[in-house]
Amino acid sequence: DAKRHGRNVARLFDESIDEEIRIRRRIEANLSQAIARDELGMTFQPIVANDTFEVVGFEALLRWTEESGPISPGVFIPIAEESNLIHELGDWVLAKSLEVLKEWPGQYVSVNFSPRQFRRHNFVGYVMEQVLRAGIAPQRLQIEITETAIFDDAERAAETLYRLRQMGFRIALDDFGTGYSSLYNIRKFALDSLKIDRGFIEGMGRERESAAIVHSIIHLGRALGLGVIAEGVETEMQVAMLRAAGASHLQGYLFSHPVNADGARALAHAGIIHGPPEQHPVLGTGTAG
Ligand code: C2E
Ligand code: MG
Ligand code: MG
Ligand code: MG
Repeated sequence: DAKRHGRNVARLFDESIDEEIRIRRRIEANLSQAIARDELGMTFQPIVANDTFEVVGFEALLRWTEESGPISPGVFIPIAEESNLIHELGDWVLAKSLEVLKEWPGQYVSVNFSPRQFRRHNFVGYVMEQVLRAGIAPQRLQIEITETAIFDDAERAAETLYRLRQMGFRIALDDFGTGYSSLYNIRKFALDSLKIDRGFIEGMGRERESAAIVHSIIHLGRALGLGVIAEGVETEMQVAMLRAAGASHLQGYLFSHPVNADGARALAHAGIIHGPPEQHPVLGTGTAG
């Protein structure tokens, strides 16, 4: 009986793997048509200075609405990353982001690059060519990469980052704390900012451990002379804690969800969100800063 049970479990397992492969293939096939079918869209989420809530930049976040409805980038980006599709999508994202950026008075756009994009041949030349073609200063493009992109081949990544930074691009290390970065290696990379993963921010008010990790990342970033962007900020309590801890920048639903190009233009021209913190009902009473 136990044997039969085992066989049944194995069969179910095989079926669910088959099913998953089928779904992935379908997504991949549809995704390869997404640009031609005009199913992709860009959204932009403001990044604000912690002390003034001034809008300093926007993260560009890709959206895909397929026939059957929206599919999360958390689902389709990893699938694109496993095929060459990521390059085609990435080209589209960068071109679109640089186009929209022109409508903003001075903010930067922060574009996510997957490990495979970052490791492509002559990545530096590629990015430079795109900003030159768009007529944009490199200082207005922030390149977001994850730990996985740079820690596999640290020597080569360090060289690439150095050259990008020399040319004036901003570099942010995304989802910091969730990958394999060794703190020993981090000093070798030419970075401008660390982005604290949303998971830690979310846990901050509930668990001492998350709060301790957030404090450590902020402390590390500051000690290394880097900006620290907290992502996934949803509550005023989180803002108060992040102000006290000294994070330089904030991003999250509390300030704005990701919005379309029109929405981003309006926010960029308004230049500030929620009004200055001293007028803020909760933050105005804080002593941090
Ligand atoms: P990420 O780069 O870490 O982006 C932050 C994610 O957190 C975004 O999810 C954003 O919408 C979400 N977020 C921001 N504030 C809040 C908040 O207050 N609460 C909650 N619950 N979520 C918040 P999204 O847009 O679903 O993107 C997921 C991931 O997909 C991104 O994580 C990034 O790794 C990847 N991705 C998105 N667009 C692109 C792209 O154009 N290229 C590449 N290579 N990856 C992308
Ligand atoms: Mg990101
Ligand atoms: Mg992130
Ligand atoms: Mg993330």
